[in-house]
Amino acid sequence: MTQVFIALGANLGRPAQQLRRACELLAWLPFTKLIRVSSFYRSPAMGYADQPDFINAVVMLETGLAANELLESMFAIEGINGRTRSFRNAPRTLDLDLLLFGDETIHHDGLTVPHPRLQERAFVLRPLLEIAPDIVIPGLGPAKDYLPGITGQAIDFYED
Ligand code: ADP
Ligand code: MG
Repeated sequence: MTQVFIALGANLGRPAQQLRRACELLAWLPFTKLIRVSSFYRSPAMGYADQPDFINAVVMLETGLAANELLESMFAIEGINGRTRSFRNAPRTLDLDLLLFGDETIHHDGLTVPHPRLQERAFVLRPLLEIAPDIVIPGLGPAKDYLPGITGQAIDFYED
């Protein structure tokens, strides 16, 4: 079994509901156990700003799936939640990003792990550290060392 972290984000439809449903679907994947779910966080959209705030969370799983199998399953869960792909940084009903896959470093066509921007984004780093304060990013070191770099980014706990 491999310990895996996935980032969840949504800013269209009913974001919190879509995140909860994604957690359920991840928990139901074969050979997979949902271990932890972070709090839900709210933050303004990055890149293209004229869109609703995002709700984000991070989950910890244990899985017997291979990384590419897990990624395929994540795309399927995005699809079930009505995700359509228009343009980069567009608003979305559900985004699932594979942050960490054990201590593996993966550089394939459609898959880069650790997720290349994970340590730069408050909406990923904050929920990740909430559920795994001592997690180490392969090639980069302890995730908590990157906290000083994200102090300027607005982020709050999400209240339902
Ligand atoms: P983003 O998450 O950057 O806003 P998308 O969700 O549209 O953008 O993903 C774009 C592509 O990123 C996907 O087609 C996927 O193959 C690729 N990708 C590469 N590495 C990862 C990863 N670690 N997790 C999720 N997708 C990834
Ligand atoms: Mg994505």
